[in-house]
Amino acid sequence: MKQCIAAILAALCAAPLHADHHGKKPPANSNERARPEVITPGTASTEKRPGRAPSDAVILFDGTGLDGFAHKKGPAKWKVGDGYFEVVPGTGEIISRQSFGDAQLHIEWATPAEVKGKGQGRGNSGVFIGNYCEVQVLDSFQNDTYPGGQAGALYGKTPPLVNAARKPGTWQSYDIIVHAARDGQPARITVLHNGVVLHHAFPLGNKDQPWQLRLQDHGNPVRYRNIWVRELQDYK
Ligand code: MG
Repeated sequence: MKQCIAAILAALCAAPLHADHHGKKPPANSNERARPEVITPGTASTEKRPGRAPSDAVILFDGTGLDGFAHKKGPAKWKVGDGYFEVVPGTGEIISRQSFGDAQLHIEWATPAEVKGKGQGRGNSGVFIGNYCEVQVLDSFQNDTYPGGQAGALYGKTPPLVNAARKPGTWQSYDIIVHAARDGQPARITVLHNGVVLHHAFPLGNKDQPWQLRLQDHGNPVRYRNIWVRELQDYK
């Protein structure tokens, strides 16, 4: 009996881990498919408190310091407040130190509670996905402007599908999924504003390029908080 068990164990150990599928992935429902990585999901933000990022995210700003960003020349010098940072007009854009390809970006922003100006002059900033596009940041709550320049527009490319703006001074979110260009195929971008889809796989340029997150100084003291990026892997 012992010999029999030993023979079975030896046979199991000698067997290949995965059956031969001629170099292809096992079928989708096969028990041999690689197990996806286990992560801890994040938590939702409230007006008072930013949520927690998923456990596999690269944290670009957690409320404490601007180490994840830089100005073109030297460290980022925008004003850091209690859990947020604020554009300092006239200092120029800031750029993430890290580059990304396929990725999920979460970023929260608030235009000034004290409303000044109108149109493009009211709470203007921008979330640049490298050289692909600017996802416009603007106070678009009861503030008319040209549609290609309102909040959530891919500036100069297309207006958003809807206007999902909240009141000035309140926190709003962008969740942006970037599919980088490759093999001659264009990059694509999906944008959710406050959980609402504004763009769905909208095609951008087809130049294969890593991208850095750039935040625009358009002369208005717009605030940002809770910025993180998850780098997306290919399916296993
Ligand atoms: Mg802008």
